[in-house]
Amino acid sequence: MKAIVIHAAGDLRIEDRPVEQPKAGQLRLRLATGGICGSDLHYYNHGGFGAVRLREPMILGHEVSAHVETIGPGVSGFEVGQLVAVSPSRPCGHCRYCAEGLQNQCLDMRFYGSAMPFPHIQGAFRQTLIADAFQCVDATGLSAGEAAMAEPLAVTLHATTRAGSLLGKRVLVTGCGPIGVLSILSARRAGAAEIVATDLSDFTLSLASKVGADRVINTAKEPEALAQYSANKGSFDVLYECTGVAAALAGAIPAIRPRGIILQLGLGGDMTLPIMAITAKELELRGSFRFHAEFAIGVELMRKGLIDVRPLITHTVPLNEAESGFNLASDRSQAMKTQIDFSA
Ligand SMILES: [Zn+2]
Ligand SMILES: [Zn+2]
Repeated sequence: MKAIVIHAAGDLRIEDRPVEQPKAGQLRLRLATGGICGSDLHYYNHGGFGAVRLREPMILGHEVSAHVETIGPGVSGFEVGQLVAVSPSRPCGHCRYCAEGLQNQCLDMRFYGSAMPFPHIQGAFRQTLIADAFQCVDATGLSAGEAAMAEPLAVTLHATTRAGSLLGKRVLVTGCGPIGVLSILSARRAGAAEIVATDLSDFTLSLASKVGADRVINTAKEPEALAQYSANKGSFDVLYECTGVAAALAGAIPAIRPRGIILQLGLGGDMTLPIMAITAKELELRGSFRFHAEFAIGVELMRKGLIDVRPLITHTVPLNEAESGFNLASDRSQAMKTQIDFSA
């Protein structure tokens, strides 16, 4: 079977890997769709991000859906051919944080396609994948592309959990890549009354509008547009910061009202913060990283038609054109979510 392997920045290869048999508690899956994520692009374009560097070849990918091919011993509740969304989150299940229900903080996390630990954790962009049954969520009724959106959706649902009640709240979203646009969908589902979104690209902002943002602002063209929200110490109760860029966070802080909450989702490396403003307005800075229970919740919300991720899927390429898919996904002027069709 074929797998998409990154060797170094710009060196992406399709290679053969042996097909394995599922052990007790596992399923063998035939991959359907894989979404290209910002972290995959960092490995492809830069060989890593921050201090995380590729030190050996690694199969990329963690946003996948698949069909059940073989059911391992002791597994029930699945049928051959069934479509599942596959959670890339594989916590150990017995460290102190897993015991506390904070699986996303697991001390021995084996998240697919991550060069954080060494040896690296191999990813899920492969034609067949062995997964633990607990990772697989029934996605019957969804398209394979929608099911492969469960992972980034879960990231934004986790951030929404971190925000607390959003009912009637005013929300600002900085950065309208897939995580920003999914944050709009998640915040709206959670009861946000007003959602304003910013970005530097008219294309991504058009999708933010399409999924329901009340107002979008291109901060490259209208650098002063947020200022109107800064009167009387600010307007927004909650910020979803999805850029990881210091200037975006600093530019948003005047528009956040006292005791507002900053959800930091964007991963851009270390940044300088306007601590004086954060202190004086008593803002709360809350990190948000990955997810756990929110993965299955996201699949359920999509299956019930309560969150529609389809507008985000702008491109689908076959496996043998994976590299062109990575180049396309890097172009924010035309791509939101680019997916690879492993069945083509
Ligand atoms: Zn992702
Ligand atoms: Zn653990």
